[in-house]
Amino acid sequence: MTTTIGTLTDDQLRSAAARSLPAGPDGAQPGPWTYAELSAAAWERAEVDGSLVVASGGTTGAAKIVALAPHLGVPLVTAAWQPLGQGDVLLNLFPPGRMWGAHYFYNAVALHSRAATVPMGALAAQELTAWADVITELGVTALAGAPNVLARFAEAVDRTGIRLPVRSVLWSAEPLTAGHAATLAATFPGAGLWGNYGSIETFVIGVSRPGCGPGVQHLLAGQQIELDDAGALLTRAGDGWPVAAWRFRLGDRIASATCPCGDGDPFRVLGRADDAFKLYGGRVPRAVPQPRIPPRGRGPWPHGAGPDPGELPCPGRGRARRVR
Ligand SMILES: [Zn+2]
Repeated sequence: MTTTIGTLTDDQLRSAAARSLPAGPDGAQPGPWTYAELSAAAWERAEVDGSLVVASGGTTGAAKIVALAPHLGVPLVTAAWQPLGQGDVLLNLFPPGRMWGAHYFYNAVALHSRAATVPMGALAAQELTAWADVITELGVTALAGAPNVLARFAEAVDRTGIRLPVRSVLWSAEPLTAGHAATLAATFPGAGLWGNYGSIETFVIGVSRPGCGPGVQHLLAGQQIELDDAGALLTRAGDGWPVAAWRFRLGDRIASATCPCGDGDPFRVLGRADDAFKLYGGRVPRAVPQPRIPPRGRGPWPHGAGPDPGELPCPGRGRARRVR
């Protein structure tokens, strides 16, 4: 029996499955979406609503390009996660440009929360001296960044001697280590740590709040995750998501967890499920080398052994290329 986190009703599942085209043979439940199918659904919606086009780095494969809904899912996320409020001033240390999405997401969270956002981008330690007066005068009360960037910023703040009344630290993109958390707590005592988890293809899936256990996230309502060692499968119901998903295989293994905060659907990310490396231009899984499969139609590819997303037939791909 499949273990799931989050519960969708039969009606919600039917509605989510109906977004899959083509349907499975003989009306059977459609199979898990590949990246190409998720991307195609996103581009179809983008033709009506517009989009923010983002991409992953593509370090071990071709960059994955996704057309996010203009709202970036912020109303849904902030219904369950309120790191900012009226009067807050967010120093956004996520870098802009290069089709990275986080910078724009945190600007949007701040504006949706009636806070101010300072779209600083990554700030090298030596640059803080030049910006110290500006940042101090702005009355920064919140920070957003990857944990290692936030920790380096905290250390630079200590060296500079400025004092910032930070009450919220928003983090994502990598695990928050105990060391980074301790560094942040030393410089910004009492600041709440607000994390979130997602993937480049799906954006935010779950959130953690100041009262949560280390490494624990809570699934946002309206989603269901099927646990699988080959990568958890995400399904989303209803509207308001940055990207729809039907049993989309995340690259991470996920497990149920418990959380001292007592909120529902806690989970923990165990690690990557589809590690692969490039060999003479081809993508090879670490476990079992696979023969190269012509990119025709839907898989099935062995878990984690699919060709680079750029090789898949994808209605949005031509359009995506134009914005590269
Ligand atoms: Zn919790």
